[in-house]
Amino acid sequence: MIWLAVDKVVDGLSPRNLSRLYNATPGWMVTRIRDARFRRTLRWAAERSPFYREAFKSRNIDPYRVRRPADLGDFFTTPDQVAADPEKFLCAPPSIVFESSGTSGKNKKIFYSRAELDQMGQIMAAGIMLMGVDPQDRVANAFDFSMWIPGMLTHYALMTGGQFCMAFGKVDPVEVYRRLRTYRFNVVMGEPTWLIRLTEIAEREGSVPLKLLIGAAEEMPPNAVPWMKKVWQGAQVRMCYGSVEQGSAIGFQPCNQTDGYHVDDTDFYPELMDADSDGFGELVYTTLRRRVMPLIRYRSRDVTRLIHEPCTCGVPGMRMDRLRGRRDELVVASGGNLYPLMFENIFKSVPGLSGEWQIIFRLEGVREILEMHVETHRDDIEVLEKDIHRSCTQAYPDLMKNLALGIFQMRLVTHPQGSIRTGRKIRRMVDLRYAPAAAVEELRSGSNSEEVEHAI
Ligand SMILES: [Zn+2]
Repeated sequence: MIWLAVDKVVDGLSPRNLSRLYNATPGWMVTRIRDARFRRTLRWAAERSPFYREAFKSRNIDPYRVRRPADLGDFFTTPDQVAADPEKFLCAPPSIVFESSGTSGKNKKIFYSRAELDQMGQIMAAGIMLMGVDPQDRVANAFDFSMWIPGMLTHYALMTGGQFCMAFGKVDPVEVYRRLRTYRFNVVMGEPTWLIRLTEIAEREGSVPLKLLIGAAEEMPPNAVPWMKKVWQGAQVRMCYGSVEQGSAIGFQPCNQTDGYHVDDTDFYPELMDADSDGFGELVYTTLRRRVMPLIRYRSRDVTRLIHEPCTCGVPGMRMDRLRGRRDELVVASGGNLYPLMFENIFKSVPGLSGEWQIIFRLEGVREILEMHVETHRDDIEVLEKDIHRSCTQAYPDLMKNLALGIFQMRLVTHPQGSIRTGRKIRRMVDLRYAPAAAVEELRSGSNSEEVEHAI
């Protein structure tokens, strides 16, 4: 009961006081708050959501006896279950929905109430304040809106935090660049590939001093950070780790330790699944304050490591390492979520391809390169490129919008028939962006075909 009262007080705090509270709450109390919120979420979900009610019944789980996530044994919630029947998770009437693409080709739908959106805005506002955004700062919000959550969530955070802002959405970076001086923006928020494109423009056309660039939704290439700091005349470059399922982000970077994240372990109960000998495993989390569509032991598919030793910066609480990869075939690249089924759909309507293909993601400097390796007997390569371009535009306009914005480059690499598949199994998507040089070399030497490379 006391923890219910605590939550009521927390809900009413300003972002500044919430960030102060986060910094000042001792570890033992965080644990108590987290456990109490977990139990309440579990009972709430078991009583109201058909999905959880059936799942617990079939496993003989009594939600009133469960104290912590580990007491649920082998029960986990998967992205496929959410994609298959999202409304079965609902515990209360929603007022807004966001989507996220997944490997099944079926978008996940995540529902929220107005009150939850306000609450997530408050949490995000406190999070970005911890990262150095003050109420008097002026923020260009270039996160994507449309069906996705980052733009809207950031907007709620800025409204709650009181910063002056413009809700650009993911527009051509030139549009934001032209307005930096007009509105005296000193903080820019957007996806890392988009921020890199903006920085390229500023490097060429002239920059203004920025205080902070904040990225999310994909990884930031580490070698981009010093370059961005230099171009923007000493700006800090920080990242959040979030997703539509998380709502407010789990991970923030309030200090200069930017090779991982500080974890919001009061709004989420993080766990690690199947950790290897280095401590890396799949991040699993339970949302602790959501009442419309709570996610219990949700498998994020992201591979990371939880760090319990305190950070040198003095901010208390759990941390996590930077993401090391995915447990499924999803690759977060080129400003979106890409998965094999997408490319199957793209290639199947293009004549003259063998059906064998591989997508390789690489970095050239800070620029992302998406290489489409295909087998073909065609020699009208320019027409083939146009065919692929047309098929991409029809099936995945968002991907081609990102290509048009210049945030990645797409290249077609043609191979003779029968040369891409060298074994029984083929890895359709190979992400070499953060791979050690040896792995890149191994892939190059493993190729047994004459390649011909063309820019699309
Ligand atoms: Zn720190």
